[in-house]
Amino acid sequence: MADRKTTHEDRPEQTNTGRRRVVAGLGAGLGAAAAAGFMPGRLSAQGNVREAEVLIIGGGIAGASTAFHLAEQGGDVLLLERGEIASEASGVNMGGLGGSGWGHNPNLLSYLTAGSVEIFKRMQIDLGYDIEFRLSGTLTAIHTAAQYEYCQDEVISQRSKGYEEELLSAREALALEPEANAALPGYVYRPQRGQADPVKTTRAFAHAAEVAGATIRTGENVIGITPQSQGGYAVRTESGEFRCQTLVLATGAWCDPVGNMLGLKIPVVPVRGMMWATASMPPSVFQTIGSAESSYAWSSDNGSDDVTPPNLTHKNGRRTIRHLYGRQRKNGEIIFGGDRESLAYDKSINPSGIEVNRGHAAEVIPLVASLPIARTWSGLMPFSLDGAPIIGKIPIRENLFIVSGLSSSGFGRGPMAGKLTADFIRTGQMTTVLEESDPGRCVVDA
Ligand SMILES: Cc1cc2nc3c(=O)[nH]c(=O)nc-3n(C[C@H](O)[C@H](O)[C@H](O)COP(=O)(O)OP(=O)(O)OC[C@H]3O[C@@H](n4cnc5c(N)ncnc54)[C@H](O)[C@@H]3O)c2cc1C
Repeated sequence: MADRKTTHEDRPEQTNTGRRRVVAGLGAGLGAAAAAGFMPGRLSAQGNVREAEVLIIGGGIAGASTAFHLAEQGGDVLLLERGEIASEASGVNMGGLGGSGWGHNPNLLSYLTAGSVEIFKRMQIDLGYDIEFRLSGTLTAIHTAAQYEYCQDEVISQRSKGYEEELLSAREALALEPEANAALPGYVYRPQRGQADPVKTTRAFAHAAEVAGATIRTGENVIGITPQSQGGYAVRTESGEFRCQTLVLATGAWCDPVGNMLGLKIPVVPVRGMMWATASMPPSVFQTIGSAESSYAWSSDNGSDDVTPPNLTHKNGRRTIRHLYGRQRKNGEIIFGGDRESLAYDKSINPSGIEVNRGHAAEVIPLVASLPIARTWSGLMPFSLDGAPIIGKIPIRENLFIVSGLSSSGFGRGPMAGKLTADFIRTGQMTTVLEESDPGRCVVDA
């Protein structure tokens, strides 16, 4: 790592929302209800206590999308974020969007992936936010004959369910991705996957929420939550008190400590992800890039136990498998990452983990072997203990919702997770797809 120039404190640059067109066009896009209800900052105040109908804690993609989708339906929404919008996982992730389309019988995964892709399109194409969205497709490299057989079975099974996946020879893959390794046995191609800029996207949701009438307050660290005898909650931050009828926890990897404030045990474990970037390069990598090594290994042993979520790369301080994801950003940087280690709230960079990941990336895109690492960074992913999202109403408390447990895929799934949460709050009805993510299965009294 002699060529590494900067430290783990580096992050993708924090840009503004990157709106391309003026907000005047937004009212129509947001629908009549939102346009009619457009009243920024309509938070009411009684003495020093500010009130809103729905209060969301957390300004990552999950919270920002929930705020936007509630506000555009006319909801009275307040979002509190202790840092800046997108200052945690939602701002530091790789920017990859998953899924393989809707399939014949869409389940929760189809909604969260394909549904979110539709929302990404809406943000960029209809609402005019430059979020660097592209439906680029994904190439997943196959390294061995055993992985090839596994991928072949998976592709056949997925295609029979109506999902769009293809098994490509290396030659076919090179036609899409000229820098891909021609010596590998093959690649899985998923054309419905895409990419977008994490910071720009998350801030676009927060901005669109504000335009639709939500109040967004950053620098508000929530330190206490008290249920009110007349219903609703009092939420205390370091600077003041807020009240609401309905409370939404969108606190990512911090669901456990925030849940404690309500006397709840929320089984969300922080998992460190690390990434690295080359300097800016001419356009060289066009899809998002992955490797089948990890999914093949996790298909026979996902490594989970009572305290360890499934599908991590490390257990008890030791690497069990390599994992890979990456892409080239619009600014030219080629970025890769993959490690997933449960280390409580430790975000420090492990240089040897970065080197392993770089070696893995070079097996798929040989070009990167010769490119120095320009910077590294890390973040904490909200892994649920059973691996499934936790989205919906917490049945053991009044008017309490959660949108979390989005694990390693929350950037691509967060937009629809937020919309489903908003729809549930607004209608009072849980759609059937949310049965799979019901918090009732795992959120208990502490
Ligand atoms: C390195 C890395 C790479 C990744 N790559 C991808 C990828 O390519 N594709 C993908 O789909 N996903 C990816 N992910 C996962 C994805 O980033 C997360 O699943 C997603 O961002 C989670 O969003 P969130 O809103 O739930 O959490 P967060 O973005 O972490 O937001 C939670 C927010 O709550 C705030 N908060 C917490 N406690 C309090 C409090 N007491 N008071 C006020 N505010 C509070 C935090 O400050 C934070 O901003 C990656 C993650 C990492 C770390």
